[in-house]
Amino acid sequence: MDFNDTVEEAAFRTEVRAWLEANAEYADASSSGHASLGERIDDESLRAAKAWQKKKADAGWACLRWPKAYGGRDATPIQAVIWSQEESKFATPPDVYMIGHGMCGPTLMAHGTPEQQEKWLPKMLSGEEIWCQLFSEPDAGTDLAGLRMSAVRDGDDWIINGQKIWTTGAQFCDWGIIVTRHDPDLPKHEGLTYFVVDMHAPGIEIRPITQIDGGQGFNEVFYTDVRIPDSYRLDEVGAGWRVAITTLMNERASVGTLGGGSVGIDDLFSLAAELEIDGRPAIEDGAVRENIASFYARAKGVELTGRRTVSALSQGKMPGPEASLMKLIGARMVQEMAAYAMELQGAAGATADVEVTPQGGKWQDRYLGISGFRIAGGTDEVLRNIIAERVLGLPPEVRMDKGMPFKEIPKAPLV
Ligand SMILES: Cc1cc2nc3c(=O)[nH]c(=O)nc-3n(C[C@H](O)[C@H](O)[C@H](O)COP(=O)(O)OP(=O)(O)OC[C@H]3O[C@@H](n4cnc5c(N)ncnc54)[C@H](O)[C@@H]3O)c2cc1C
Repeated sequence: MDFNDTVEEAAFRTEVRAWLEANAEYADASSSGHASLGERIDDESLRAAKAWQKKKADAGWACLRWPKAYGGRDATPIQAVIWSQEESKFATPPDVYMIGHGMCGPTLMAHGTPEQQEKWLPKMLSGEEIWCQLFSEPDAGTDLAGLRMSAVRDGDDWIINGQKIWTTGAQFCDWGIIVTRHDPDLPKHEGLTYFVVDMHAPGIEIRPITQIDGGQGFNEVFYTDVRIPDSYRLDEVGAGWRVAITTLMNERASVGTLGGGSVGIDDLFSLAAELEIDGRPAIEDGAVRENIASFYARAKGVELTGRRTVSALSQGKMPGPEASLMKLIGARMVQEMAAYAMELQGAAGATADVEVTPQGGKWQDRYLGISGFRIAGGTDEVLRNIIAERVLGLPPEVRMDKGMPFKEIPKAPLV
Protein backbone atom coordinates (compact mmCIF):
# COMPACT_ATOMS: atom_id res chain seq x y z
CA MET A 1 0.00 0.00 0.00
CA ASP A 2 1.60 3.27 -1.09
CA PHE A 3 -0.33 6.41 -0.19
CA ASN A 4 2.13 8.84 -1.80
CA ASP A 5 1.58 10.38 -5.22
CA THR A 6 3.56 8.76 -8.01
CA VAL A 7 5.72 11.13 -10.07
CA GLU A 8 2.94 11.43 -12.68
CA GLU A 9 0.27 11.97 -10.01
CA ALA A 10 2.36 14.68 -8.31
CA ALA A 11 2.82 16.45 -11.67
CA PHE A 12 -0.91 16.25 -12.32
CA ARG A 13 -1.65 17.63 -8.83
CA THR A 14 0.69 20.57 -9.47
CA GLU A 15 -1.04 21.33 -12.78
CA VAL A 16 -4.51 21.13 -11.15
CA ARG A 17 -3.49 23.33 -8.22
CA ALA A 18 -1.94 25.93 -10.50
CA TRP A 19 -5.17 26.22 -12.51
CA LEU A 20 -7.32 26.40 -9.37
CA GLU A 21 -5.06 29.02 -7.77
CA ALA A 22 -5.33 31.15 -10.91
CA ASN A 23 -9.11 30.81 -11.08
CA ALA A 24 -10.50 30.51 -7.51
CA GLU A 25 -9.83 31.56 -3.92
CA TYR A 26 -8.82 29.15 -1.16
CA ALA A 27 -11.70 28.32 1.23
CA ASP A 28 -11.44 29.95 4.67
CA ALA A 29 -12.25 28.33 8.03
CA SER A 30 -15.95 29.28 7.95
CA SER A 31 -16.51 27.87 4.47
CA SER A 32 -17.04 24.15 4.05
CA GLY A 33 -15.64 24.06 0.51
CA HIS A 34 -18.22 22.28 -1.61
CA ALA A 35 -21.84 22.51 -0.53
CA SER A 36 -23.84 19.47 -1.50
CA LEU A 37 -26.38 19.28 -4.29
CA GLY A 38 -29.64 21.04 -3.59
CA GLU A 39 -28.59 22.72 -0.36
CA ARG A 40 -30.04 26.24 -0.18
CA ILE A 41 -29.62 26.91 -3.86
CA ASP A 42 -30.96 30.31 -4.91
CA ASP A 43 -30.76 32.17 -8.22
CA GLU A 44 -27.44 33.72 -7.28
CA SER A 45 -25.72 30.45 -6.30
CA LEU A 46 -27.18 28.79 -9.41
CA ARG A 47 -25.67 31.52 -11.61
CA ALA A 48 -22.34 31.13 -9.81
CA ALA A 49 -22.45 27.33 -10.22
CA LYS A 50 -23.14 27.66 -13.95
CA ALA A 51 -20.36 30.22 -14.40
CA TRP A 52 -17.84 28.00 -12.53
CA GLN A 53 -18.80 24.94 -14.58
CA LYS A 54 -18.48 26.91 -17.84
CA LYS A 55 -15.06 28.17 -16.80
CA LYS A 56 -13.92 24.61 -16.10
CA ALA A 57 -15.42 23.34 -19.36
CA ASP A 58 -13.73 26.08 -21.41
CA ALA A 59 -10.37 25.19 -19.85
CA GLY A 60 -10.83 21.41 -20.28
CA TRP A 61 -11.36 20.69 -16.57
CA ALA A 62 -15.01 19.58 -16.75
CA CYS A 63 -16.09 15.93 -16.41
CA LEU A 64 -12.53 14.67 -16.16
CA ARG A 65 -13.53 10.98 -16.30
CA TRP A 66 -15.63 11.35 -19.45
CA PRO A 67 -14.03 10.11 -22.68
CA LYS A 68 -12.46 12.79 -24.88
CA ALA A 69 -15.03 11.95 -27.57
CA TYR A 70 -17.71 13.41 -25.28
CA GLY A 71 -15.66 16.47 -24.29
CA GLY A 72 -14.04 14.96 -21.17
CA ARG A 73 -10.38 14.38 -20.41
CA ASP A 74 -10.24 10.58 -20.34
CA ALA A 75 -8.73 10.98 -16.89
CA THR A 76 -7.86 7.97 -14.75
CA PRO A 77 -9.90 7.42 -11.55
CA ILE A 78 -6.95 8.57 -9.44
CA GLN A 79 -6.70 11.81 -11.44
CA ALA A 80 -10.38 12.45 -10.73
CA VAL A 81 -9.71 11.90 -7.02
CA ILE A 82 -6.76 14.32 -7.14
CA TRP A 83 -8.94 16.92 -8.85
CA SER A 84 -11.69 16.65 -6.22
CA GLN A 85 -9.18 16.67 -3.34
CA GLU A 86 -7.67 19.88 -4.68
CA GLU A 87 -10.93 21.55 -5.70
CA SER A 88 -12.39 20.93 -2.24
CA LYS A 89 -9.73 23.25 -0.79
CA PHE A 90 -11.19 26.18 -2.73
CA ALA A 91 -14.31 28.28 -2.16
CA THR A 92 -16.38 27.08 -5.10
CA PRO A 93 -20.15 27.35 -5.70
CA PRO A 94 -22.47 24.43 -4.81
CA ASP A 95 -21.94 21.41 -7.06
CA VAL A 96 -25.33 21.11 -8.77
CA TYR A 97 -23.88 18.80 -11.44
CA MET A 98 -23.01 15.74 -9.36
CA ILE A 99 -26.03 13.70 -10.51
CA GLY A 100 -25.81 14.83 -14.14
CA HIS A 101 -22.08 14.33 -14.60
CA GLY A 102 -21.64 11.32 -12.32
CA MET A 103 -24.78 9.34 -13.12
CA CYS A 104 -26.88 10.66 -16.03
CA GLY A 105 -23.98 11.30 -18.42
CA PRO A 106 -22.39 7.85 -18.07
CA THR A 107 -25.84 6.23 -18.43
CA LEU A 108 -26.46 8.13 -21.67
CA MET A 109 -23.03 7.06 -22.93
CA ALA A 110 -23.77 3.40 -22.18
CA HIS A 111 -27.41 3.19 -23.33
CA GLY A 112 -28.19 6.26 -25.47
CA THR A 113 -28.21 6.48 -29.26
CA PRO A 114 -25.66 8.79 -30.96
CA GLU A 115 -28.54 11.28 -31.57
CA GLN A 116 -29.49 11.24 -27.88
CA GLN A 117 -25.87 11.71 -26.83
CA GLU A 118 -25.44 14.60 -29.27
CA LYS A 119 -28.63 16.24 -28.01
CA TRP A 120 -27.89 16.10 -24.29
CA LEU A 121 -24.23 15.55 -23.41
CA PRO A 122 -22.61 18.83 -24.60
CA LYS A 123 -24.94 21.10 -22.58
CA MET A 124 -24.66 18.75 -19.61
CA LEU A 125 -20.88 19.06 -19.70
CA SER A 126 -20.80 22.83 -20.13
CA GLY A 127 -23.25 23.24 -17.26
CA GLU A 128 -25.89 25.02 -19.34
CA GLU A 129 -28.43 22.31 -18.42
CA ILE A 130 -28.80 20.63 -15.04
CA TRP A 131 -30.08 17.07 -14.52
CA CYS A 132 -31.86 15.15 -11.77
CA GLN A 133 -32.56 11.50 -10.97
CA LEU A 134 -36.22 10.45 -10.63
CA PHE A 135 -35.99 6.92 -9.19
CA SER A 136 -37.39 6.85 -5.63
CA GLU A 137 -41.12 6.75 -4.97
CA PRO A 138 -43.07 6.89 -1.70
CA ASP A 139 -43.11 3.07 -1.63
CA ALA A 140 -39.93 2.30 -3.58
CA GLY A 141 -36.56 3.40 -2.24
CA THR A 142 -34.24 0.57 -1.21
CA ASP A 143 -36.56 -1.76 -3.12
CA LEU A 144 -36.38 0.39 -6.25
CA ALA A 145 -37.80 -2.33 -8.51
CA GLY A 146 -41.08 -2.00 -6.57
CA LEU A 147 -41.79 1.35 -8.28
CA ARG A 148 -45.29 2.04 -9.62
CA MET A 149 -45.04 5.07 -11.93
CA SER A 150 -46.88 3.96 -15.07
CA ALA A 151 -45.88 4.46 -18.70
CA VAL A 152 -48.49 3.70 -21.36
CA ARG A 153 -47.63 3.80 -25.07
CA ASP A 154 -49.69 6.23 -27.20
CA GLY A 155 -48.47 6.46 -30.81
CA ASP A 156 -45.02 8.05 -30.84
CA ASP A 157 -45.37 9.10 -27.19
CA TRP A 158 -45.63 7.53 -23.77
CA ILE A 159 -48.06 8.84 -21.16
CA ILE A 160 -46.62 8.93 -17.66
CA ASN A 161 -48.61 9.02 -14.40
CA GLY A 162 -47.53 8.72 -10.77
CA GLN A 163 -45.27 10.25 -8.15
CA LYS A 164 -41.55 10.41 -7.46
CA ILE A 165 -40.04 11.65 -4.19
CA TRP A 166 -36.70 12.83 -2.74
CA THR A 167 -35.72 14.14 -6.18
CA THR A 168 -32.65 16.23 -5.48
CA GLY A 169 -32.59 19.57 -7.27
CA ALA A 170 -35.77 18.92 -9.34
CA GLN A 171 -36.90 22.52 -8.80
CA PHE A 172 -34.01 23.94 -10.85
CA CYS A 173 -33.28 21.04 -13.23
CA ASP A 174 -33.90 21.03 -16.97
CA TRP A 175 -33.83 17.26 -17.57
CA GLY A 176 -34.28 14.11 -15.53
CA ILE A 177 -33.73 10.37 -15.84
CA ILE A 178 -36.80 8.40 -14.87
CA VAL A 179 -37.68 4.72 -14.40
CA THR A 180 -41.30 3.72 -15.07
CA ARG A 181 -43.44 0.56 -15.16
CA HIS A 182 -44.78 -0.20 -18.62
CA ASP A 183 -46.10 -3.71 -17.82
CA PRO A 184 -47.43 -4.72 -14.38
CA ASP A 185 -48.06 -8.29 -15.62
CA LEU A 186 -44.32 -8.98 -15.76
CA PRO A 187 -42.12 -9.76 -12.70
CA LYS A 188 -41.06 -6.53 -11.05
CA HIS A 189 -37.56 -6.22 -12.54
CA GLU A 190 -38.77 -7.00 -16.06
CA GLY A 191 -41.67 -4.57 -16.54
CA LEU A 192 -39.57 -1.39 -16.33
CA THR A 193 -38.68 1.17 -19.01
CA TYR A 194 -36.25 4.06 -18.65
CA PHE A 195 -36.63 7.58 -20.17
CA VAL A 196 -35.16 11.03 -20.22
CA VAL A 197 -37.82 13.54 -19.22
CA ASP A 198 -38.05 17.27 -19.90
CA MET A 199 -38.60 18.76 -16.43
CA HIS A 200 -40.51 21.69 -17.97
CA ALA A 201 -43.08 19.43 -19.73
CA PRO A 202 -46.80 20.11 -19.08
CA GLY A 203 -48.31 17.90 -16.34
CA ILE A 204 -45.24 17.94 -14.06
CA GLU A 205 -45.73 19.49 -10.63
CA ILE A 206 -42.70 19.96 -8.39
CA ARG A 207 -43.19 20.48 -4.67
CA PRO A 208 -40.00 21.23 -2.71
CA ILE A 209 -39.68 19.46 0.66
CA THR A 210 -38.43 21.69 3.48
CA GLN A 211 -35.77 19.99 5.57
CA ILE A 212 -35.01 20.39 9.25
CA ASP A 213 -32.31 23.00 8.44
CA GLY A 214 -34.71 25.10 6.35
CA GLY A 215 -33.08 24.08 3.06
CA GLN A 216 -35.04 22.53 0.21
CA GLY A 217 -32.60 20.03 -1.27
CA PHE A 218 -35.16 17.59 -2.60
CA ASN A 219 -38.73 17.47 -3.89
CA GLU A 220 -41.90 15.54 -4.50
CA VAL A 221 -42.58 15.37 -8.25
CA PHE A 222 -46.07 14.55 -9.51
CA TYR A 223 -46.77 13.39 -13.08
CA THR A 224 -50.24 13.74 -14.55
CA ASP A 225 -50.59 12.57 -18.16
CA VAL A 226 -47.07 13.76 -18.98
CA ARG A 227 -46.10 12.99 -22.59
CA ILE A 228 -42.60 11.70 -23.27
CA PRO A 229 -41.61 11.11 -26.91
CA ASP A 230 -40.47 7.57 -27.64
CA SER A 231 -37.23 9.12 -28.93
CA TYR A 232 -36.42 9.98 -25.28
CA ARG A 233 -36.48 6.28 -24.27
CA LEU A 234 -33.08 4.87 -23.27
CA ASP A 235 -32.45 1.34 -24.51
CA GLU A 236 -35.23 -1.21 -25.19
CA VAL A 237 -38.74 -1.26 -23.78
CA GLY A 238 -38.39 -3.51 -20.71
CA ALA A 239 -34.64 -2.82 -20.28
CA GLY A 240 -35.29 -0.23 -17.52
CA TRP A 241 -33.75 -2.29 -14.72
CA ARG A 242 -30.55 -2.89 -16.69
CA VAL A 243 -30.23 0.84 -17.43
CA ALA A 244 -31.01 1.72 -13.79
CA ILE A 245 -28.20 -0.61 -12.65
CA THR A 246 -25.78 1.33 -14.88
CA THR A 247 -26.88 4.54 -13.15
CA LEU A 248 -26.57 3.01 -9.68
CA MET A 249 -23.13 1.51 -10.41
CA ASN A 250 -21.98 4.97 -11.42
CA GLU A 251 -23.44 6.39 -8.20
CA ARG A 252 -21.44 3.81 -6.26
CA ALA A 253 -18.28 4.59 -8.22
CA SER A 254 -18.64 8.27 -7.41
CA VAL A 255 -19.03 7.40 -3.72
CA GLY A 256 -15.84 5.32 -4.13
CA THR A 257 -13.87 8.21 -5.55
CA LEU A 258 -14.61 10.30 -2.48
CA GLY A 259 -11.68 8.44 -0.90
CA GLY A 260 -9.49 10.63 1.25
CA GLY A 261 -12.16 13.31 1.70
CA SER A 262 -12.13 15.29 4.92
CA VAL A 263 -14.39 14.33 7.83
CA GLY A 264 -13.81 17.65 9.58
CA ILE A 265 -11.33 16.64 12.29
CA ASP A 266 -9.11 19.67 11.55
CA ASP A 267 -12.15 21.91 12.08
CA LEU A 268 -12.67 20.28 15.49
CA PHE A 269 -9.07 21.09 16.48
CA SER A 270 -9.44 24.73 15.44
CA LEU A 271 -12.82 25.01 17.17
CA ALA A 272 -11.34 23.75 20.44
CA ALA A 273 -8.46 26.22 20.09
CA GLU A 274 -10.91 29.09 19.48
CA LEU A 275 -13.35 28.35 22.34
CA GLU A 276 -12.60 28.88 26.04
CA ILE A 277 -13.39 26.88 29.17
CA ASP A 278 -12.85 28.78 32.46
CA GLY A 279 -10.79 31.44 30.70
CA ARG A 280 -8.42 28.98 29.00
CA PRO A 281 -8.49 27.53 25.47
CA ALA A 282 -10.80 24.49 25.45
CA ILE A 283 -8.07 22.46 23.78
CA GLU A 284 -6.06 22.61 27.03
CA ASP A 285 -8.85 20.90 28.98
CA GLY A 286 -8.12 17.22 29.73
CA ALA A 287 -11.63 15.93 29.03
CA VAL A 288 -11.80 17.85 25.73
CA ARG A 289 -8.39 16.50 24.69
CA GLU A 290 -9.51 12.96 25.47
CA ASN A 291 -12.64 13.32 23.34
CA ILE A 292 -10.79 14.92 20.44
CA ALA A 293 -8.12 12.21 20.59
CA SER A 294 -10.82 9.56 20.34
CA PHE A 295 -12.41 11.30 17.30
CA TYR A 296 -8.95 11.71 15.78
CA ALA A 297 -8.23 7.98 16.02
CA ARG A 298 -11.57 7.16 14.39
CA ALA A 299 -11.16 9.86 11.72
CA LYS A 300 -7.73 8.45 10.83
CA GLY A 301 -9.30 4.98 10.47
CA VAL A 302 -11.87 6.40 8.03
CA GLU A 303 -9.24 8.44 6.19
CA LEU A 304 -6.91 5.46 5.76
CA THR A 305 -9.81 3.30 4.57
CA GLY A 306 -10.49 6.03 1.99
CA ARG A 307 -6.84 5.98 1.00
CA ARG A 308 -7.04 2.23 0.42
CA THR A 309 -9.73 3.02 -2.16
CA VAL A 310 -7.53 5.71 -3.70
CA SER A 311 -4.53 3.38 -3.68
CA ALA A 312 -6.58 0.63 -5.40
CA LEU A 313 -7.70 3.17 -8.03
CA SER A 314 -4.10 4.32 -8.50
CA GLN A 315 -3.09 0.75 -9.29
CA GLY A 316 -5.91 0.40 -11.80
CA LYS A 317 -8.03 -1.84 -9.51
CA MET A 318 -11.74 -1.39 -8.74
CA PRO A 319 -12.53 -0.23 -5.18
CA GLY A 320 -13.82 -3.05 -2.96
CA PRO A 321 -16.37 -2.70 -0.16
CA GLU A 322 -14.27 0.10 1.43
CA ALA A 323 -16.66 2.73 0.04
CA SER A 324 -19.56 1.11 1.93
CA LEU A 325 -17.44 0.85 5.09
CA MET A 326 -16.34 4.46 4.81
CA LYS A 327 -19.85 5.79 4.37
CA LEU A 328 -21.24 3.64 7.19
CA ILE A 329 -18.56 4.51 9.76
CA GLY A 330 -17.70 8.01 8.50
CA ALA A 331 -21.24 9.42 8.39
CA ARG A 332 -22.04 8.25 11.91
CA MET A 333 -18.76 9.64 13.19
CA VAL A 334 -19.39 13.05 11.61
CA GLN A 335 -22.82 13.07 13.28
CA GLU A 336 -21.28 12.33 16.71
CA MET A 337 -18.46 14.81 16.14
CA ALA A 338 -20.91 17.56 15.17
CA ALA A 339 -23.00 16.85 18.28
CA TYR A 340 -19.84 17.16 20.39
CA ALA A 341 -18.75 20.38 18.63
CA MET A 342 -22.14 21.95 19.37
CA GLU A 343 -21.89 20.83 23.01
CA LEU A 344 -18.50 22.55 23.24
CA GLN A 345 -20.05 25.79 21.97
CA GLY A 346 -22.34 25.99 25.02
CA ALA A 347 -25.40 28.22 24.48
CA ALA A 348 -24.24 29.15 20.94
CA GLY A 349 -24.42 25.47 20.04
CA ALA A 350 -28.18 25.56 20.43
CA THR A 351 -28.70 28.13 17.65
CA ALA A 352 -28.17 28.05 13.92
CA ASP A 353 -27.73 31.85 13.73
CA VAL A 354 -24.46 32.30 11.81
CA GLU A 355 -23.88 35.66 13.52
CA VAL A 356 -23.30 34.00 16.88
CA THR A 357 -22.20 30.46 16.07
CA PRO A 358 -18.46 29.76 15.77
CA GLN A 359 -17.03 28.77 12.38
CA GLY A 360 -20.05 30.18 10.53
CA GLY A 361 -22.45 27.55 11.90
CA LYS A 362 -20.81 24.73 9.93
CA TRP A 363 -21.23 22.20 12.77
CA GLN A 364 -24.95 22.93 13.05
CA ASP A 365 -25.20 22.50 9.27
CA ARG A 366 -23.28 19.25 9.39
CA TYR A 367 -25.36 17.89 12.26
CA LEU A 368 -28.66 18.60 10.52
CA GLY A 369 -27.49 17.44 7.09
CA ILE A 370 -25.66 14.24 7.91
CA SER A 371 -28.80 12.19 8.70
CA GLY A 372 -29.74 12.49 5.02
CA PHE A 373 -26.29 11.28 4.01
CA ARG A 374 -26.86 8.18 6.16
CA ILE A 375 -29.89 7.40 3.95
CA ALA A 376 -29.02 8.61 0.42
CA GLY A 377 -27.06 6.25 -1.83
CA GLY A 378 -27.68 3.28 0.51
CA THR A 379 -28.94 3.41 4.11
CA ASP A 380 -26.82 2.19 7.03
CA GLU A 381 -28.77 -1.09 7.06
CA VAL A 382 -28.29 -1.63 3.33
CA LEU A 383 -24.54 -0.98 3.66
CA ARG A 384 -24.45 -3.52 6.50
CA ASN A 385 -26.17 -6.02 4.19
CA ILE A 386 -23.49 -5.38 1.54
CA ILE A 387 -20.70 -5.86 4.07
CA ALA A 388 -22.41 -9.00 5.45
CA GLU A 389 -22.72 -10.57 2.01
CA ARG A 390 -19.55 -9.38 0.26
CA VAL A 391 -17.04 -9.18 3.12
CA LEU A 392 -18.31 -11.71 5.65
CA GLY A 393 -19.77 -14.11 3.07
CA LEU A 394 -23.13 -14.46 4.84
CA PRO A 395 -26.07 -15.82 2.80
CA PRO A 396 -28.08 -13.26 0.78
CA GLU A 397 -31.51 -12.05 1.82
CA VAL A 398 -34.48 -14.28 0.92
CA ARG A 399 -36.63 -12.80 -1.89
CA MET A 400 -40.24 -13.94 -1.66
CA ASP A 401 -41.43 -12.02 -4.75
CA LYS A 402 -38.94 -13.49 -7.23
CA GLY A 403 -40.63 -14.26 -10.57
CA MET A 404 -44.11 -13.09 -9.40
CA PRO A 405 -46.05 -10.75 -11.72
CA PHE A 406 -45.70 -7.24 -10.23
CA LYS A 407 -49.47 -6.77 -9.91
CA GLU A 408 -49.73 -9.87 -7.66
CA ILE A 409 -47.12 -8.70 -5.14
CA PRO A 410 -48.94 -7.46 -2.01
CA LYS A 411 -48.52 -3.70 -1.60
CA ALA A 412 -49.50 -1.07 0.91
CA PRO A 413 -52.12 1.36 -0.45
CA LEU A 414 -50.63 4.70 -1.53
CA VAL A 415 -51.79 7.61 0.64
C1 LIG B 1 -30.40 13.60 0.90
C2 LIG B 1 -31.12 12.63 0.01
C3 LIG B 1 -31.12 12.82 -1.37
C4 LIG B 1 -31.78 11.93 -2.21
N1 LIG B 1 -31.79 12.17 -3.56
C5 LIG B 1 -32.47 11.35 -4.38
C6 LIG B 1 -32.57 11.63 -5.78
O1 LIG B 1 -32.03 12.62 -6.28
N2 LIG B 1 -33.28 10.78 -6.55
C7 LIG B 1 -33.89 9.68 -6.07
O2 LIG B 1 -34.49 8.94 -6.83
N3 LIG B 1 -33.84 9.38 -4.73
C8 LIG B 1 -33.15 10.19 -3.89
N4 LIG B 1 -33.10 9.93 -2.54
C9 LIG B 1 -33.84 8.79 -2.02
C10 LIG B 1 -32.97 7.66 -1.55
O3 LIG B 1 -32.46 6.95 -2.66
C11 LIG B 1 -33.86 6.78 -0.67
O4 LIG B 1 -34.20 7.54 0.48
C12 LIG B 1 -33.13 5.53 -0.23
O5 LIG B 1 -32.99 4.66 -1.33
C13 LIG B 1 -33.92 4.78 0.88
O6 LIG B 1 -35.22 4.57 0.46
P1 LIG B 1 -36.48 5.01 1.37
O7 LIG B 1 -36.26 6.39 1.85
O8 LIG B 1 -37.72 4.70 0.59
O9 LIG B 1 -36.42 4.06 2.65
P2 LIG B 1 -36.85 2.52 2.70
O10 LIG B 1 -36.22 1.78 1.59
O11 LIG B 1 -38.33 2.44 2.82
O12 LIG B 1 -36.19 2.09 4.05
C14 LIG B 1 -36.80 2.37 5.33
C15 LIG B 1 -35.93 1.71 6.39
O13 LIG B 1 -35.93 0.28 6.18
C16 LIG B 1 -34.59 -0.20 6.07
N5 LIG B 1 -34.52 -1.27 5.06
C17 LIG B 1 -35.09 -1.26 3.81
N6 LIG B 1 -34.79 -2.40 3.15
C18 LIG B 1 -34.00 -3.12 3.99
C19 LIG B 1 -33.38 -4.40 3.88
N7 LIG B 1 -33.49 -5.13 2.77
N8 LIG B 1 -32.64 -4.83 4.95
C20 LIG B 1 -32.52 -4.09 6.08
N9 LIG B 1 -33.12 -2.88 6.25
C21 LIG B 1 -33.82 -2.41 5.21
C22 LIG B 1 -33.79 1.02 5.60
O14 LIG B 1 -32.43 0.90 5.94
C23 LIG B 1 -34.48 2.15 6.33
O15 LIG B 1 -33.98 2.26 7.65
C24 LIG B 1 -32.44 10.81 -1.67
C25 LIG B 1 -32.45 10.61 -0.27
C26 LIG B 1 -31.80 11.50 0.55
C27 LIG B 1 -31.84 11.25 2.04
